[in-house]
Amino acid sequence: MSTDATAPVLPTAAEHHAPTPEVTSDPHPQAEVVFDVQGLNVYYGGFKAVRDVDLHIHRNEITAFIGPSGCGKSTVLRCFDRMNDLIESARVEGKVLYHGVDLYDSRVDPVEVRKRIGMVFQKPNPFPKSIYDNVAFGPRLNGNKQNLDDAVEKALRGAALWDEVKDRLRKSAMGLSGGQQQRLCIARAIAVDPEVVLMDEPCSALDPIATARIEDLMQEIKSLYTIIIVTHNMQQAARVSDRTAFFTTEVNPESDSRTGLLVEYDRTDKMFSAPADERTENYVTGRFG
Ligand code: ADP
Repeated sequence: MSTDATAPVLPTAAEHHAPTPEVTSDPHPQAEVVFDVQGLNVYYGGFKAVRDVDLHIHRNEITAFIGPSGCGKSTVLRCFDRMNDLIESARVEGKVLYHGVDLYDSRVDPVEVRKRIGMVFQKPNPFPKSIYDNVAFGPRLNGNKQNLDDAVEKALRGAALWDEVKDRLRKSAMGLSGGQQQRLCIARAIAVDPEVVLMDEPCSALDPIATARIEDLMQEIKSLYTIIIVTHNMQQAARVSDRTAFFTTEVNPESDSRTGLLVEYDRTDKMFSAPADERTENYVTGRFG
């Protein structure tokens, strides 16, 4: 941990779970901005994967990232919890402000970032441990030794899994179905009481019934968390999200490489009914990609 007195301070769990201010007379009030992305470029070595992304993510909303494969959706998602730090060749330019704090400020501790911003991956990835130990993992790491049982139960209830597993908490997580494993991963992510949950194609390995269960769960928990989901499934984006960001790729004629860019970002109903950009319209109507 930094001891620099001027180091930026990330909000605490109590702060980020504080009640949202009273709704005003404005029929479409803008929810508080959680992330303010400014001029984001991401490189892998010399390859510019994404360029010039500007975007606001709003509190207690579900934001979907859609677009053709390779347009940089996951790359941008990974910027929100500094997961790109774990990729040696990755380099991030621009600003990702989290409640005004630049996450890429060298004094910000990525471990602290990941306490506030959890991630659920494409393929359910439970640890080869018991159901209980999977969920208790984060709270234990954070030094929460008391009330561990309560924390595990709360997270499993929050992920709509408690009733299915309460009698076999000490059994291996590997014995759960794919859909249950993914809800367990959501329980593991929310057990540390994050503000934001990032989901990278969380349903792509699941059958339609398990997918519907996760989509329902997202609706159930969005009053507590801010969710960003990458999905290749446009119907899913239309069903679950409040806002949608459409990314695409442009070909650089000199290098013949493809760089991702954000084409349009708006309320989901508008993106699917009256998009402003022809490229979005072509994509959402299935004429491209
Ligand atoms: P999407 O999620 O939209 O499918 P990605 O963010 O995964 O797109 O990828 C964007 C571009 O960055 C692609 O050209 C991909 O090949 C490249 N890329 C992604 N991850 C890496 C990596 N770890 N190393 C090098 N290039 C990568």
